[in-house]
Amino acid sequence: MSDLVRGTAAEMADALAAGEVTSVSLTQAHLDRIAAVDGDVHAFLHVDTEGALETAAAVDADRAAGVSLPKLAGVPIGIKDVLVTKGLPTTAGSRILEGWIPPYDATVTRKVREARMPILGKTNMDEFAMGSSTEHSAYGATHNPWDLDRIPGGSGGGSAAALAAFEAPLTIGSDTGGSIRQPASVTGTVGVKPTYGGVSRYGAIALASSLDQLGPCGRTVLDTALLHEVMGGHDPHDATSLREPVPGAVAAALEGASGDLSGVTLGVIKELGGEGYQDGVKQRFEEALDAARGAGATVVEVECPSFVYALAAYYLILPAEASSNLAKFDGVRFGLRVERETVERTMAATRAQGFGDEVKRRIILGTYALSAGYYDAYYGSAQKVRTLIQRDFTAAFEKADVLVSPTVPSTPFKLGERIDDPLAMYLNDVATIPANLAGIPGMSIPAGLAPEDNLPVGFQLLAPAHQDARLYRVGGAIEALLNAAWGGPLSALAPALGGAK
Ligand code: GLN
Repeated sequence: MSDLVRGTAAEMADALAAGEVTSVSLTQAHLDRIAAVDGDVHAFLHVDTEGALETAAAVDADRAAGVSLPKLAGVPIGIKDVLVTKGLPTTAGSRILEGWIPPYDATVTRKVREARMPILGKTNMDEFAMGSSTEHSAYGATHNPWDLDRIPGGSGGGSAAALAAFEAPLTIGSDTGGSIRQPASVTGTVGVKPTYGGVSRYGAIALASSLDQLGPCGRTVLDTALLHEVMGGHDPHDATSLREPVPGAVAAALEGASGDLSGVTLGVIKELGGEGYQDGVKQRFEEALDAARGAGATVVEVECPSFVYALAAYYLILPAEASSNLAKFDGVRFGLRVERETVERTMAATRAQGFGDEVKRRIILGTYALSAGYYDAYYGSAQKVRTLIQRDFTAAFEKADVLVSPTVPSTPFKLGERIDDPLAMYLNDVATIPANLAGIPGMSIPAGLAPEDNLPVGFQLLAPAHQDARLYRVGGAIEALLNAAWGGPLSALAPALGGAK
C-alpha cells in the first residue's frame, strides 16, 4: 500500500494480515492526515491520539505473536459523538454535555473495541443529531471536503467528511431521518441505515427512539458491509434489538461486486423525484438506472402516495420523542450546570444556556404536540400516517426487490444558506425520512458528480425490513458498474484539500 490513507478498509485489513503494514503506521498515517487537514474540515470534535496508538500497538504485538485476530483488527475508525465512549468525551455536539466523560461504553463502542479497531476520535454532528448540515453543532460546522464552503450533510457531517477527506477509512453514524444517508450523498461516500433494531442503540444518545438507528459509513459498499457485521446483532440491553443473526452483508457485497443484476427488479419511487430535484441529480440517477438495466435489472415505477405526508409526520413524531428524551439534561446528572437559587431555576438556566436554537425549537414543538388536548390531533395523526407509509412500502415491495431514488434532491448547499430557514433545511430529508418511519433498511452510494456544479450525487436503495443483505448485493453491483464507467471509486476523485489529490 503506497498511500496509507487512500485505500479501502478492506485493503487495509488485507495489508495488515499480510504483514505489509503495521497498525501503528496505519493509525499514525491517519492521525497525521487529521493533523494536516482537520483544521479546514473540522470533522473531529475530539482526537484520541494516545488511545488509538495504544490499541494499534497491542494489535501489532498480538499479530506478531500469531494470535488470531478479527478481520478489521488494526483498521482505525471514527465514531460519531452521539455514541458514548468510556473515558472519552461525548457531547452529542451540545454545550450541555461539554466536559462529560461517560463511565461506560455503548454496545457498538464495545463491539468496535472487541474488533480491535483503534478509535481515532469522535466526529462532529448537529446538536443531538438535529439537522442536515452539521451547522447546528455547538462546536462549529464541519466543511465538505469537495468544497470547503459547502455543507457536509447532517447530522453526521463529521463522520462523512472524515471519510471523504481520508481522515478515517470507516466511521459510525446514526440515522433518525437520514443522518447517515444524506451526509453520504453529499460527500460522495457510502452510508447504511440498517433495519430498525438490527444494531443496538444501547449507549447511543437518543433523539427519537422509534426512528433512531446506528449504521456504518465508508467509502465503498464492501467496507460498510465489513463494519455492519461488527456493529450488528442482538443485545439484551436494548429492548427493541432484533433477535436474529447479523445480516450476511459481506458475502452479499462480494456477490454484488460481479456487477450482475439479472433477475433483480428495481422500483423507482415516483414521489421521490421530478419537481424540486436538481437536474444534474436526476441525470446521474437516470444514468445509474441505465447502467443497472444494462446489467440485467428490470426497472419499474412504483407509487407511494402517502409519502407526501412523511415530512410532516416526521416533524411531529421526532420533536415529540425528542422533547421527552432530552428531559434528562437538566444540570443535575450530566455535564453543564448553571447554579441558581432553586432546583427549578437551575434546570431552566442550564437548559437555556446549554441547548442551541434548533434543539429548543424542537423541544417546544414536541412539548406542544404532546400536550393535553392536542395529542390525538398531532402525535396520533402522525402515527396514522406512519402506518400508511408502511403500507405504501409493502405494496411497492410486491412489485420490486429494491426501491430506488436520489438520496437527496440536490448536491450540497452552501454553509450558511439555510441556517435561518428551518423548513428549507428539513426539505433536504424528503427522500430519506420514509425509511425511518417504516423501520426499513436504506443505503446511499455515490452516483457521480452533477454536471452543473461538479458536486456529489447520491443514489438511494431501500429494501424490506430484515433484508439488509439485499442492499449490499444490489448496491455493490451498481457501485461496481459505476466504478467501471468512472475508472475507479468516486471517493478517489475527491478534490484538493491540502494535498488530497
Ligand atoms: N436531518 C434530519 C433531522 O434534522 C435527520 C436527523 C437524523 O437522522 N439524526 O431531523
